Amino acid sequence: MARYIFITGGVVSSLGKGLMAASLAALLQARGYKVRIRKFDPYLNVDPGTMSPYQHGEVYVTDDGAETDLDLGHYERFTGVSARQSDNVTSGRIYQQIIARERRGDYLGATVQVIPHVTDAIKQFALAEASDLDFVLCEIGGTVGDIESLPFIEAIRQLRNDLPRDQTALIHVTLVPYISAAGELKTKPTQHSVRELTSLGVQPDLLLCRCEQPLPDNERAKIALFCNVRKEAVIPALDASSIYAVPSQYHAEGLDHEVLRHFGLVAPLPEMARWDDILDRYENPEGEVTIGVVGKYVGLQDAYKSLNEALVHGGMANRVKVKIRWLDAELFEQGDAEIAAQLEPMHGILVPGGFGERGSEGKIASVRFARERNVPFFGICLGMQMACIEGARNTAGIAAASSTEFGPTAEPVVGIITEWMGKEGLEQRSDQGDKGGTMRLGAFEARLSGNSHVSAIYGGATAISERHRHRYEVNVSYRDALEQGGLVFSGMSPDGLLPEIVERPDHPWFVGVQFHPELKSKPFDPHPLFAGFIAAAVQQARLV
Ligand code: GLN
Repeated sequence: MARYIFITGGVVSSLGKGLMAASLAALLQARGYKVRIRKFDPYLNVDPGTMSPYQHGEVYVTDDGAETDLDLGHYERFTGVSARQSDNVTSGRIYQQIIARERRGDYLGATVQVIPHVTDAIKQFALAEASDLDFVLCEIGGTVGDIESLPFIEAIRQLRNDLPRDQTALIHVTLVPYISAAGELKTKPTQHSVRELTSLGVQPDLLLCRCEQPLPDNERAKIALFCNVRKEAVIPALDASSIYAVPSQYHAEGLDHEVLRHFGLVAPLPEMARWDDILDRYENPEGEVTIGVVGKYVGLQDAYKSLNEALVHGGMANRVKVKIRWLDAELFEQGDAEIAAQLEPMHGILVPGGFGERGSEGKIASVRFARERNVPFFGICLGMQMACIEGARNTAGIAAASSTEFGPTAEPVVGIITEWMGKEGLEQRSDQGDKGGTMRLGAFEARLSGNSHVSAIYGGATAISERHRHRYEVNVSYRDALEQGGLVFSGMSPDGLLPEIVERPDHPWFVGVQFHPELKSKPFDPHPLFAGFIAAAVQQARLV
């Protein structure tokens, strides 16, 4: 039977609970255990799919087509375990299910209440599909004390009674701030936060204390005394040099040891060689390249979390440091001089996914710059669509080429996908439909042309599977015109109707993909497209 580790946060948000969960899972995995991580999000959106990247960061898409919290990306990158729809739930989804059941009459006249109906639904979510696992880690979003998280904490309280006593653990992540005027670390916020948790009937077993300064022994003892945990179970978590250093650092502080001790388990020491290798590649690069990412949400890096990580992985694969310059596409609408000034220092140009018209002309202009100057170019999702519009306008003579996403157009080189083969048969959409959960989502196969550049990048593969999240597609009826302009369609959906990959054979490295390869890249397994793109940037850096 799986053991459950619940992870809550106190004092402030942004303590890195997601990374902590991912690191602990990686350590347990490195000791030979089978793990899975789940995220409970207390907000009322059914999923983060309709939330602005500015507010909530990137939407992480799973193979099975769920639009989930970006923490699931951390989990997947650190453990290699593919996340699923059943690994992320929000209050909104739980209420949606309960209200649908109530409308059907499934509750047979009962009064539907938070306890037991909402808490039962949360418990079912936590317990589902766990029979073959050693550990399920459940991270609760938000901070203890938030109104929205109360039903989740209550569900944990109940589960701690429902399950055998030695099958669950609760780790509370807190902040121990350093007050420079006093020259002291302060434990009081941690004490208050644990008191808040215990007032809800839940006693933590371990405390992970985020701190900027080393936690002195006497402060550790004080936290233990006031919070009713063993001193060894108060784990100091100093800021790390990089996220790749976190698992080893937590291990050195005894986190995994204490967790196993709590469960009464004895296991071999974790096999850390793969983490040591990643850290070495990250911290001791043999060169450096600069990549310009031309996008819209450049003010908030969480909006491109997986992309940022995948570029770093591409650097690790080539043993170089990747410096990312986040460039606001709208700036490029000021004219060619601005574009050249910003893009000339770049060894590679990437146009990432995005939504809406704002900045699109700047993205198209940067594709043109990359094409004309032979700078490695990588277009992802909207970035591929922009590459096709650029190709249509400037190499195929279709001056009015545009996307229907930006309004009515006489030359819809990119248009709404009205139907495609989904996992459960034909899916159909119109531009009047709902926005939430209605895109072409999740893993779909693409067939690659035999002698294409992408097929070589994928090690000679002729079929690949990648994750999608888009509502528009490159219009296949423009294929011949675009190919005559030198933009070759080298990857298509199996039915040959949806363009998946375009490339320019006459360019050193020019690839556009309709899917999101960044979602599947891992530090120990960099995605071939990112490894290839960075290799091309290294080549470019040698030339300039
Ligand atoms: N807005 C585009 C579409 O819906 C691209 C989406 C994306 O880049 N993820 O097709």
